[in-house]
Amino acid sequence: MRSILFFGALIGYISCQETFVGDQVLEIIPRNEEQVKHLRQLETEAYLQLDFWKPLTTAGEKVHVRIPFSRLQGIKVFLESYEIPYSIMIEDVQVLLDRENEEMLFHRRKKSSGSFNFGAYHTLEEIFQEMDNLVEKYPDLVSKLQIGYSFEKRPMNVLKFSTGGNKPAIWLDAGIHAREWVTHATALWTANQIASDYGKDPSVTALLDTMDIFLLPVTNPDGYVFSHTKNRMWRKTRSKASGSFCVGVDPNRNWDAGFGGPGASDNRCSDSYRGPSANSEVEVKSIVDFIKNHGGIKAFITLHSYSQLLMFPYGYKCSRSNDFDELNEVAQIAAESVTSLYGTKYKVGPICSVIYQASGGSIDWSYDYGIKYSFAFELRDTGRHGFLLPANQILPTAEETWKGLKKIMEYVRDHPY
Ligand SMILES: [Zn+2]
Repeated sequence: MRSILFFGALIGYISCQETFVGDQVLEIIPRNEEQVKHLRQLETEAYLQLDFWKPLTTAGEKVHVRIPFSRLQGIKVFLESYEIPYSIMIEDVQVLLDRENEEMLFHRRKKSSGSFNFGAYHTLEEIFQEMDNLVEKYPDLVSKLQIGYSFEKRPMNVLKFSTGGNKPAIWLDAGIHAREWVTHATALWTANQIASDYGKDPSVTALLDTMDIFLLPVTNPDGYVFSHTKNRMWRKTRSKASGSFCVGVDPNRNWDAGFGGPGASDNRCSDSYRGPSANSEVEVKSIVDFIKNHGGIKAFITLHSYSQLLMFPYGYKCSRSNDFDELNEVAQIAAESVTSLYGTKYKVGPICSVIYQASGGSIDWSYDYGIKYSFAFELRDTGRHGFLLPANQILPTAEETWKGLKKIMEYVRDHPY
């Protein structure tokens, strides 16, 4: 135990990574609105540096919060004084981070021996390299497009799967939130799956004979790099504004859909900071421009983690969309298909009722823009590891997600509009 901690601290020291030694993630379940009010109070105290992994909503709903070691005793006393029930979800965040780090180092050493390991977490460089490999391996099906640059001038690389020409298309992105690493890994596995299944799996073959697929595995490259090199818990972009020490915008509060409404913060230091204006983040703007210029996008699917949810519009408002019944049905079918593989249970519904009201989200924008089939996945798990999902769950997560994705894609293929 001690040697692992020491090793971890050493890795942290060498790479200047922020350490989370002794931080715990608590699961808190407020019993009534009075307790919700007390928790709200904690939420607003920025100096406490609480990191809400699963945000506070209403009484009876679980809240997951990472609490810095230095605040732990105080917070527990606070919760106990108001008799708010809680349990320890993650005993020591750094222990999980060290394990993750050691696994990555192990795979890096092993890598020279052969092919890409889809069951491991990878750096941005490694992901980009593997995207190039796919293009090289399947030149008649896969090509790479650069749809723009991030704030720190990293390329926004999209894989296009196409049997020729410009067909109606499906958009799929991952990693808009930097720390949701299983989404990048799932997207890359999916890219390989699509490419290798064409001509073998009749469903994928029929899909690509009628439609194109655009896949953006790393939507927030700056944040992703930062989460590898400096702070594993980073969520936002890395854009900087004059007059503030706080960096970054929550890119999934930055879309032009109910921008500035509930469920997004106007505080630059908040993890859900919406940004100064809609599309202020160049990563968001690049996707919006691409989709507007392309024209034929019929489905917009985005991958997040964690919570095991399959959601559709709306998030910025709680009224039903015109296509509620149809989207709900498609989502139910897809979720059942996800569950069929390993029993992973998914909850289905519009963002506003499944999680909470949140403005400026990508699938609300795509839906209002006219892309009827707009869906957001929250992948594994439900909190046992949260954002720190062990690498040995990447492959099963990707496999089960693919089952759901395929159902949606088949439906879109068979219901042109
Ligand atoms: Zn997310």
